[in-house]
Amino acid sequence: MKNWYKINNHDKNICGNCEVEFEGLQTLDHHSTRCPNCNIESIWFYFERGRTLQIIPENAPKEFLAFIKWSQKELDELEFLELIVSFEEIARAINKS
Ligand SMILES: [Zn+2]
Repeated sequence: MKNWYKINNHDKNICGNCEVEFEGLQTLDHHSTRCPNCNIESIWFYFERGRTLQIIPENAPKEFLAFIKWSQKELDELEFLELIVSFEEIARAINKS
């Protein structure tokens, strides 16, 4: 299965598709942009502690893609951020249990 996500940090981003490092993400929101090297459609998110998450829609499970499309249509940036923060809260609790 192809990579459908990649976790990086904001100072050093390596594309999950082409594995090429690039600097300076211009836009970090829940709308699609493209990898500056291989041009694959990507969505980048900021997480706490300077981490970034790249989602590659064409490789993602279709259920996850449906969720992403729903969020792009229904949520603005702030609402989406709230959603991510909530997921992070749950993930932290799972990791502690
Ligand atoms: Zn790439």
